[in-house]
Amino acid sequence: MKNSNKLGINTICVHIGEVEDKQFKGAVSPIYPSTSYAFDGVDIKRYPRYFNTPNQEFLRKKIAILEHTEDALIFSSGMAAISAALFAFLKKGDHIIIQQVIYGGTFNFIANEFDKFGIEYSFTESDKIEDFNPLIRPNTKVIYIETPSNPLLGITDIQAIAALSKQHQIITMIDNTFASPINQNPFDFGIDIILHSATKYMGGHSDISAGAIAATKEHIDLIWKTAINYGGNLSDQTVWLLERSLKTMNLRVKEQTKNAQIMAEYLEKNPNIDAVYYPGLLSHPQYEIAKKQMNGFGAMLSFELKNTIDAMNFQRQLRLIKPSMSLAGLESTTVSPVQTTHALLSEVERLERGIKNGLIRFSVGIEETRDLIADIEQAIEKAILC
Ligand SMILES: *Cc1c(COP(=O)(O)O)cnc(C)c1O
Repeated sequence: MKNSNKLGINTICVHIGEVEDKQFKGAVSPIYPSTSYAFDGVDIKRYPRYFNTPNQEFLRKKIAILEHTEDALIFSSGMAAISAALFAFLKKGDHIIIQQVIYGGTFNFIANEFDKFGIEYSFTESDKIEDFNPLIRPNTKVIYIETPSNPLLGITDIQAIAALSKQHQIITMIDNTFASPINQNPFDFGIDIILHSATKYMGGHSDISAGAIAATKEHIDLIWKTAINYGGNLSDQTVWLLERSLKTMNLRVKEQTKNAQIMAEYLEKNPNIDAVYYPGLLSHPQYEIAKKQMNGFGAMLSFELKNTIDAMNFQRQLRLIKPSMSLAGLESTTVSPVQTTHALLSEVERLERGIKNGLIRFSVGIEETRDLIADIEQAIEKAILC
């Protein structure tokens, strides 16, 4: 492990990156909302869009240590982080290879913006390492992956991607949102740039929008030069909320991950479920890779209801578990990819990607699993078509 740290994970979550309250000795970080700081001619000028107000500067340290990197930057959304990282490393005439299955917003960003700037891009056929190699061109500058991926929890071999990229001096980026820094630290496997939608597990309470990038100091300095031009900094009030959320991240994510394993095993045995996709199941095709590169298998899973059950009706019948567009909060939520994230694709395109009508993506929360199981049982009973 690079940047090995002697402190335990909960200690890091609670204490690293605190802003000391020297004036009143309060227990938590004060918020510094100033947008204007004294100019003394020598020191770096503090300014919100420079990512260096006291709250931003300190929280960057916590995120860096959590991802085992030297430095980090905090943004106003996951997409602000992802777009700044990509535009920092890509210019006209460059080429990027992107894993086929990635977050919809990232796909839209690439498909809608890159042509305008003359940046070439190729999507792989699958998440298998063999599919990346043939796409490498002399002008390939970045390889971009996401693992586990949405909604079928595909696993990409992080170490193999990093090794392939190093051979060709290509920068690697990973969207580490689904795993969170608790369950996966891609920097240890040689990935250069770690991206997060902090709206998800880092925030964890479904109440803040934020993003983060973790990398070496050299790479963060380079991204910073682009990021200050796009202006995607997070307000200091929300930086403070993110700090508060991160204090419990390990407790939340560990509990959610434990629950997800229990729910995945339960669903796999349920006769009304055709398939369960969860990297912690032995039946997952890339279970061995997941085991090698993840500290825990995460709290996202998906499952296919039998065609005797209407997916929308099933979700309407749930009492505790909320149908919800987003994910990773401490409350359990479901979403039907066919009705939402993949609604714009034709049925043929969806089936090509393995997304059937009865597919439900399940973000497992911290509730007791016996309550979640009871909720699913009663919803299935009501939604079954006789
Ligand atoms: C939500 C999400 C994003 C985008 O994050 P925003 O905070 O909504 O901008 C990126 N990647 C993944 C995997 C996500 O789930």
